[in-house]
Amino acid sequence: MIAHRGASGYLPEHTLQAKALAYSMGADYLEQDVVATKDEQLVVLHDIHLDRVTDVARHFPGRQRSDGRYYVRDFSLDEIRLLEVHDRTNADGSLVYPKRPKSVSEEYRVHTFSEELAYIAELQANFGRPVGVYAEIKSPAWHRQEGIDITPLFLSALSEHGYEAHADPVYVQCFDDEELRRVREVHNSALKLVQLIGDNRWGEAATDFDELRTAEGLRRLARTVDGIGPWVNFLYRIDRDQRIEDSGLVSAAHQQGLAVHPFTFRDDDLPPGFGSFAELMQFAVDELSVDGLFTDFPDLAVGHHGQAAT
Ligand code: CA
Repeated sequence: MIAHRGASGYLPEHTLQAKALAYSMGADYLEQDVVATKDEQLVVLHDIHLDRVTDVARHFPGRQRSDGRYYVRDFSLDEIRLLEVHDRTNADGSLVYPKRPKSVSEEYRVHTFSEELAYIAELQANFGRPVGVYAEIKSPAWHRQEGIDITPLFLSALSEHGYEAHADPVYVQCFDDEELRRVREVHNSALKLVQLIGDNRWGEAATDFDELRTAEGLRRLARTVDGIGPWVNFLYRIDRDQRIEDSGLVSAAHQQGLAVHPFTFRDDDLPPGFGSFAELMQFAVDELSVDGLFTDFPDLAVGHHGQAAT
């Protein structure tokens, strides 16, 4: 089970506190999203923007671009370290997940990818339980337009912390299928790779996600990657009687030897047709036999005792 941005159902996403909590809850993998600063440092943040999870506008008024957004790429690491991280908000400042515990500490900060990898090593050394790394290269094509190729920096950070071999406890994830091919063929990385599969309307990459979900798309993917990370909504359809029906994606991927790790299992934001987190787990884990899953609520996923282990 992969702790999506840490135990983000309880503490602000991607803070070290959220990672420690996820670890203590029994997560098998801790997720990192990786973006680049102005001075080419890699930091752990979900967005290429700072404004939905930090108080950047208060510290740096006027530093937004013409679209009104504050970009990580426009700030140095030292500047970003001044920011306080808070619960995720919408553009109007309202909370995205209003039912979650409110963060109150001023000690939530942004950290680098390398700092998180060192922290994960420390957790394992102190508490003895192994935990894996599940890191995402965010918007590589956008970063290149901004004058930086983040992938070599990303792979070097992993390698400096001892993640190099296929068997190492790490997955590299990306929405951009071309970038994953570069990771494998140009950078000759042996690491396990996961193709994220979203909705084409999200505009996450130039990738055609509808095509990737076809038998031919999956067959082609299997030449490069070890698994897929599909949006959970792609695992099922709702039939005329409002019943959940398997879309066949998991078995089609399994036929190509691909692992399947769907995202994102949220107790307070269930996909249509599911009445509870337990029902969603029962369907994905017990019926479809997914190989792993991304969740904001690691404790609930660990607490699921179905037929198959996650
Ligand atoms: Ca991610």
